[in-house]
Amino acid sequence: MTRTNLEKFRTALRTKQSELSGKSRLESIAIERSPDMSEEVQYKSERELAIVGLNRESEIRRSIALALSRINDENFGTCVHCEQEISKRRLEVVPWTPFCIRCQEAADRGDERVLESVETTFLDAA
Ligand SMILES: [Zn+2]
Repeated sequence: MTRTNLEKFRTALRTKQSELSGKSRLESIAIERSPDMSEEVQYKSERELAIVGLNRESEIRRSIALALSRINDENFGTCVHCEQEISKRRLEVVPWTPFCIRCQEAADRGDERVLESVETTFLDAA
């Protein structure tokens, strides 16, 4: 990958990183009370959705940090599991992805070996 491309991805990652740290979802988790039972159920599921969103965000935040450190180590753009190049189109959509599309699909199915690769890479980076 060329310098120019790397710099472009670095900028994209930093932008996303500051977007995520800028907004707070904590407010939507605050417990709201209602005398009406059905409303209370509604509040509860909204709260659960907000928590799912937070988990996803912290996952992305972690992946962004990893991607930035991989840019510094000059191994950005290769899959952490199979070490194949991740397609440029895929990186343009999700620049923080640690996986090529094939390994991503395996990770989505819960493939332990693939998921472990990302943990190992995190430890190496730390
Ligand atoms: Zn792969």
